Amino acid sequence: MGVGLSEILKGKQSIALGGHIRPDGDCVGSSMGLYLYLTEQYPQIETDIYLEEIPEAYRLIQKTEEARNCIPEGKQYDLFICLDCGDEKRLGFSAPLFQNAKQTFCIDHHVSNDAFADINYIVPDASSTSELVFGLLDKEKIGKPEAEALYMGIAHDTGVFQYSCTSPETMEAAAELLRKGIDGNDIIEKTFYEKTYIQNQILGRALLESILILDKRCIVSAVSKKEMDFYGAKPSDLEGIVSQMKLTQGTETALFMYELETQNYKVSLRSKGKVDVSIIAQYFGGGGHTRAAGFTMKGSFHDVINNVSIQIARQLDQEEIQV
Ligand code: 5GP
Ligand code: MN
Repeated sequence: MGVGLSEILKGKQSIALGGHIRPDGDCVGSSMGLYLYLTEQYPQIETDIYLEEIPEAYRLIQKTEEARNCIPEGKQYDLFICLDCGDEKRLGFSAPLFQNAKQTFCIDHHVSNDAFADINYIVPDASSTSELVFGLLDKEKIGKPEAEALYMGIAHDTGVFQYSCTSPETMEAAAELLRKGIDGNDIIEKTFYEKTYIQNQILGRALLESILILDKRCIVSAVSKKEMDFYGAKPSDLEGIVSQMKLTQGTETALFMYELETQNYKVSLRSKGKVDVSIIAQYFGGGGHTRAAGFTMKGSFHDVINNVSIQIARQLDQEEIQV
């Protein structure tokens, strides 16, 4: 990127940070990491952070209680920084602050991001937005609290340094963060692997009810609103289900959906590499990465399967023709 963080911050008196709806580990990690750094290094700038409710496990990151989940009326910031957010719509409640800001800056790694801010730092090959934030900071000035946040974000979006997006640079960033004296294992254990009883129950239910389609190359499962209410599960309790489904031997893709409200599904897609799921997600109005993407769709569970499986089959057939 041609512009450094200090240049972007020059002359700014107020900054708002925002992430995507239903924030995940990388969204919380990158935005809290930058928030903790800015409030420490630039105390003269008024910096506020806007995020939807942060899932309980991520609250081990310091100052998450300072994140606001509603916006002040008529407020105009000199700069709005959006993180891990592929499009303006996904900012959710903080979108009016983005629209109202004097300048906007987007830091993201989604291949589907169409550079919707004034200044855009988008690197689709990067493992995570947290890795990109790390790259923007003065390494000597990174403190332990922001190192914890960024490490969490990188660990989450790489599936604990395992997905193909994990590069030598990712490992170098993680190493540099570990040198700040953080307990990396504890962060991974508590925010990535540990599940509540409810989370494990609903994971078990989704796996039990899953089906194999497209000649066993796609695994599908769904959780209805009624089931979520029965278990007392929130959307964030369903994180990780689709990744577990993807581990099924012989499958190429995993399709998991849950009902946000009656007949309106949040759909998650995962691929082992043969199918580019970001193309499918974009086709249905969403976005993401080549191996992990999502969107929302109105209709029944069967409508979603019918529509999405056609797109998956098309790519799988194409792949076979090329072989
Ligand atoms: P997940 O399936 O875990 O919700 O999301 C997988 C990836 O796709 C994440 O990087 C997420 O940001 C992105 N994603 C999920 N749903 C949507 C959506 O509705 N719109 C866009 N633009 N991206 C999405
Ligand atoms: Mn991310």
